[in-house]
Amino acid sequence: MAFEGLAQRLQGTLQKIKGKGKINEADVKEMMREVRFALIEADVNLKVVKEFIKTVSERAVGQDVMKSLTPGQQVVKIVQDELTNLMGGEQNPIQFARKSPTVIMMVGLQGAGKTTTTGKLATVLRKRHNKKPLLVAADIYRPAAIQQLETLGKQLTLPVFSMGTDVSPVEIARKALEEAEKEYHDVVIIDTAGRLHVDEKLMQELKDIRELSKPDEIFLVVDAMTGQDAVNVAKSFDDTIGITGVILTKLDGDTRGGAALSIRSVTQKPIKFVGMGEKMDALEPFHPERMASRILG
Ligand code: GDP
Repeated sequence: MAFEGLAQRLQGTLQKIKGKGKINEADVKEMMREVRFALIEADVNLKVVKEFIKTVSERAVGQDVMKSLTPGQQVVKIVQDELTNLMGGEQNPIQFARKSPTVIMMVGLQGAGKTTTTGKLATVLRKRHNKKPLLVAADIYRPAAIQQLETLGKQLTLPVFSMGTDVSPVEIARKALEEAEKEYHDVVIIDTAGRLHVDEKLMQELKDIRELSKPDEIFLVVDAMTGQDAVNVAKSFDDTIGITGVILTKLDGDTRGGAALSIRSVTQKPIKFVGMGEKMDALEPFHPERMASRILG
C-alpha cells in the first residue's frame, strides 16, 4: 500500500504525544526528530522536510498550544494541517477555457503513464464534466504510441486524431484544433512524445506545440514510484516549459510517498489528479486533506 511506512511511523509518533496532558518544548523536539526521520525514510525532498519541521515546530511550541487543555491533540492537528498544506491545501480543479475548446497538453517521460492517463482524463471529462473530448496523437517517434492511443479511443468510443509519423507534432496540433472546431469538441487533449530522459530537442518540440496550441493546462504525468526522480523531472519540465499541474500515477502501488509530498513544495504547481490503477476509471482528483488524513489514520 502507498505511504505504508510513513503512515505507520507518523501514527506511532503522534500516538505518543496525543495523550499527554502537558507537553514541553523537549517533547515537541523529540517528536519532530521522529517525524523528520519518517519523512526522510519516505523519500521526501530534504529541503521540504526541513521547512516542514520548522513550520510545525514553531506552531507546536506556541503559547496557545502549550497552555491548551489538550496540547497533544493540538500538535497532532498541526501536523495534519501542515501535511495538507504541503500537498497544496485545497483540491485544484481543471481550468477550462472561457471559449471552447479547452486545450490540455499531456507531457512526461516514457513509461510514466501519459497515454493511459490521457484516456483516463478523457473519461473523467466526459463523465463528470459532460465534455466531448478529442484525443490527439502527437508522439510521432513511436508508432506504438499512436496505436496505443487509437486502441484506447476505440475502447472508450472516443475519437482520436492522428496523422501518422511523417507530419510534425506542431502541424498535427494545428490540424487537430481545426478538427475540434469543425466537430464541436470542447476539449482537446494532446498526447505528446515521451523520452527516457529530459532532453533539449523534446523540450523545444513541447514549447513549439505550446506556442501553437496555447494550452489552458499543461499536465505533467509522473510516476509516483520513482520518488525524488519524479520531483526532479517535475522541476525540469516546469523550468523549461512551465506546467500548470501534475498527475501522479501508480499511487495504487507501494510508493513511499516522497513525490506526493514534495512536488507541490518544490515546483509550486498542484497535483491535480492521481492514478490509482491501470483501468480507465482509475483517475481521481487529488485531495490534499484526504490524503493527509489517510496518512495519519
Ligand atoms: P507512457 O509511456 O507515459 O505513455 O506510459 P503508458 O501510458 O504506456 O503507461 C505505462 C504503464 O503504466 C502501463 O502499463 C500502464 O497500464 C501503467 N499505468 C499507468 N498509470 C497507472 C496507474 O495509475 N497505476 C498503475 N498500477 N499502472 C499505471
